[in-house]
Amino acid sequence: MQDASSWTDGLQLAFGADQPRRMLIGGRWLESDSGQSIAVVDPSTASPIASIQRGTAADVDRAVAAARAAFEGGEWPAMNGTARERLMRKLADLIETNSAEFALLEALDGGKPIAAAHQADVLGSVARLRYAAAWAPRLNGQNIEPAVPLDMHCYTRREACGVAGLIVPWNFPLAMAVSKLGDALAAGCTVVLKPSELTSLATLRLGELIGEAGFPDGVVNIVTGYGSEAGQALADHAGVDKISFTGSTRVGKQLVRSAAGNLKRLTLELGGKSPAIVFADADLDLSVRGVLRNFTYNSGQICAAGSRIFVHRAVYEPFLVALADAASAVRVGPATEDFTEMGPLVSEAQRDRVRDYIAGAVESGATVVAGGAMTETEGYFHRPTILADTRPDMAVRREEIFGPVATISPFEGDEFAAVIREANDTDYGLSSYIYTRDLSAAHRTARLIRAGTVRINGAALDHTMPFGGYKQSGWGRENGCEGVLSFTELKTVMIALG
Ligand code: NAD
Repeated sequence: MQDASSWTDGLQLAFGADQPRRMLIGGRWLESDSGQSIAVVDPSTASPIASIQRGTAADVDRAVAAARAAFEGGEWPAMNGTARERLMRKLADLIETNSAEFALLEALDGGKPIAAAHQADVLGSVARLRYAAAWAPRLNGQNIEPAVPLDMHCYTRREACGVAGLIVPWNFPLAMAVSKLGDALAAGCTVVLKPSELTSLATLRLGELIGEAGFPDGVVNIVTGYGSEAGQALADHAGVDKISFTGSTRVGKQLVRSAAGNLKRLTLELGGKSPAIVFADADLDLSVRGVLRNFTYNSGQICAAGSRIFVHRAVYEPFLVALADAASAVRVGPATEDFTEMGPLVSEAQRDRVRDYIAGAVESGATVVAGGAMTETEGYFHRPTILADTRPDMAVRREEIFGPVATISPFEGDEFAAVIREANDTDYGLSSYIYTRDLSAAHRTARLIRAGTVRINGAALDHTMPFGGYKQSGWGRENGCEGVLSFTELKTVMIALG
């Protein structure tokens, strides 16, 4: 493994602003049919650092044809789970060997603090891929005893669902690509991967390692480009059997319509507006650290952000003071600097969107307890911001901001039912956070919260556990066994014994 302490030393990035990075289609690195490129901007400096191909529907056609050919003929369908596991482990080893380069790409492309990118995104992806690989030889069907009075042997088989389109957002470019790719490959699918137009560099580097690992041509294809062009063409394509999408609820709803054309299987990991509930008996230090991290990790650009904080009235004042102090102490800076705890937002548009939400809330009576805009820098920075005196109907309480912003409100001891009602008063249902020492209160709250994940006292996410949303936070689950199964079909086989 590369030495993580010398991030930039000796690293030669294999791209330049004048050479758009090509796309991986059928094992070859190709230019787009459009002849156009998209600039890649470093959000820490607002400077262009590279460019990628602007993929089109024709490029998607080529990629889907390559994936279809690889699924139906050639080496891939002949490989059993053990052989797939071996290849996937080789890819995981290659990512680990090149981990410092991946961390740098994630820092430059998306603005992630480089040490966190290395530990969580890159080494996390290595672990995630190895976990998925282990499922490949373990996807078994069942023997089932029939009920009809006929002598039959009946069983089920787990089979790959076919060609999968994987559409990835910009907030965890490598980690999300690897998570979807790992589950799809473990199941035996072939794929067309569409990274976000804002953060494609790590995925393209991953494509090079996929070749080096020895995956047969066409098993993994990567098409870069805009969501409304390349992404939409993939979602509409009749040659695609399944779409696995992570992104906004708005686009997720569009994909439901696109999938109707050929009734594609669909997994949707969408937005959130998750509550964090702090009870009066919570450990103050632990809950302050946890609540802060919930809405500032990755500059708040996390679907599971705990962006609505509810604190018991008895501890509201000390909690608020401690949280505001902790938020003000967060070191915001360029992603490649060692001192940086929180990097920039991914783009100018995202930074402006955050500013607009805060300005709107303040106009409607909210108070900024900590944080606010940073105007003295070139990059797209914003301080962790806490808003008090908000009302449940305000946009900052209802809509996903996708930045380091949270609202905070008190609740009373006898208002347990009310705080649960308010926590659930959202179109979303992705995650939730509870802080208490009272086991009964923790489990009772966990039962009543309408969300796919409940995290108590700072529990970390883990790729062995299913992840996904209730309500408008999505359809289906990723991670765990469920993630792999979502790329399979279940076949029933019955033979009458003569
Ligand atoms: P987005 O929906 O704009 O884009 C996500 C991806 O979809 C990108 O690759 C984009 O190019 C593509 N896309 C856009 N329009 C498309 C279309 N019409 N057809 C097909 N593809 C299209 O989301 P984003 O801004 O990149 O990411 C932020 C959103 O992602 C937030 O809402 C966040 O909550 C959500 N998210 C959810 C999870 C989760 O696991 N639930 C995780 C991370 C992010």
